[in-house]
Amino acid sequence: MIAKSIDKMLLKKQTGFLIPADRVAQVQANNPLTHAFLVLTKVRYSKIPVLDAESHIIGLLTMPMITDAMIGLEELSFDPIAEMTVADVMQTKFDTIQTDADMDLTLHLLVDNPFLPVVDSDNVFQGILTRREMMKAFNYVAHNIEQEYEVVAKSTTEAEVEQDR
Ligand code: AMP
Repeated sequence: MIAKSIDKMLLKKQTGFLIPADRVAQVQANNPLTHAFLVLTKVRYSKIPVLDAESHIIGLLTMPMITDAMIGLEELSFDPIAEMTVADVMQTKFDTIQTDADMDLTLHLLVDNPFLPVVDSDNVFQGILTRREMMKAFNYVAHNIEQEYEVVAKSTTEAEVEQDR
């Protein structure tokens, strides 16, 4: 369990660290793979969400997922992906969090994921929460906790007492 004080301070910052859906680079599952190749090249993010026509998140896409399909016997070629769509190569198993997810779960999942798609109860994509934004929020907590809470050590070794002087 996260300390209540830290949880409260992080939650205060939470609206600030969600990157809303309209600012997230994304592709549609039925987009041609060649189009997704161009999007990924331009946005330079390593992994982006894949949505269906109703804005549900149904996958994640990386450049290696596309280039894997382009590998021929001797060279890379666009020919094999000419007729393919994003849905043919996207990753379909991935973690998401709900808009009201608790901080414990969020932090746990961010250990293994550089970002987490945030969805509502109908799985409609709301945006992403990135490890980077969470680190910024932690930075805020680390710098401000003593202004908002009295933090007292429960037990201190003599060496620590000496160090604090
Ligand atoms: P960051 O923590 O900002 O480096 O982002 C980590 C990962 O989150 C990136 O590599 C992307 O996969 C994803 N990401 C961050 N911001 C965006 C965005 N605006 N659109 C799409 N994906 C993003």
